[in-house]
Amino acid sequence: MNHKRFRDSGIYGVGKAAEHPPALAVLSHTPAGATQTIAWVGKGIVYDTGGLSIKGKTTMPGMKRDCGGAAAILGAFRATIKQGFKDNLHAVFCLAENSVGPTATRPDDIHTLYSGKTVEINNTDAEGRLVLADGVVYASKDLSADIILDMATLTGAQGISTGKYHAAVMTNNDQWEAACVRAGRSSGDLAHPLVYCPEMHFSEFTSALADMKNSVADRENAQSSCAGLFIASHLGFDWTGVWVHVDIASPVHAGERATGFGVALLMALFGQASDDSILKQVSPLSCGAANDDAKRRRLV
Ligand SMILES: [Zn+2]
Repeated sequence: MNHKRFRDSGIYGVGKAAEHPPALAVLSHTPAGATQTIAWVGKGIVYDTGGLSIKGKTTMPGMKRDCGGAAAILGAFRATIKQGFKDNLHAVFCLAENSVGPTATRPDDIHTLYSGKTVEINNTDAEGRLVLADGVVYASKDLSADIILDMATLTGAQGISTGKYHAAVMTNNDQWEAACVRAGRSSGDLAHPLVYCPEMHFSEFTSALADMKNSVADRENAQSSCAGLFIASHLGFDWTGVWVHVDIASPVHAGERATGFGVALLMALFGQASDDSILKQVSPLSCGAANDDAKRRRLV
């Protein structure tokens, strides 16, 4: 990305006040004979003070874990490639420190994201969706991904919605919703669906000045779902690919320590393209093949 393009981005707006500049980093695996292109997009806020909408003294400690989505994707990418993987797989890391300083984004600023859509910032602590919106659009426009999954410690409300042990999954595709739940059960990184209803919920972001605000009007109206919709809206609700959003804000930690949540979930969910026979077997997306195997075994 050239400098000017980069300035028109959510990642730059979130990370510009930090000592270390923000970045979008991509790792790519592109084997010959691949039939589809998958992108995993991780929220990598290396520290989240909340920005000028600053967090309180009890809610800021622990915010070093706001890169849990990117960390899970890094681990899963390494492990998946190591086992052999037949499809194109890109790991996209949206990296920034949400800091406070003279150049920090102010509430009321309007930023143009990589999608070209404008966002009126009404809460600088709702920064994850800004960096991820850039990441998923990069995956679609620049990497031509057919399947885009973003993983993030996105909302505190995730813990209210699905608790400490289940990730909250939201997707534009029923088959993938069911697949995430099954991959959760087989991997131990549990997952449960959130409401996906852009026609009723996206109006929470209505802005008089820009295409949207970045934080909802009513925090008691499906907050975790709305945060996910913000990301999807930059791909466009009419985007024809598969989009999956996984909010892991609570299961990413157990007390003070990180759990490594998400690595096993991704490996199981995408096991159908693996060279590893166990991963292939547990993948809910290769269940057709697994059933055929079972039938053949019975016939023998
Ligand atoms: Zn935040």
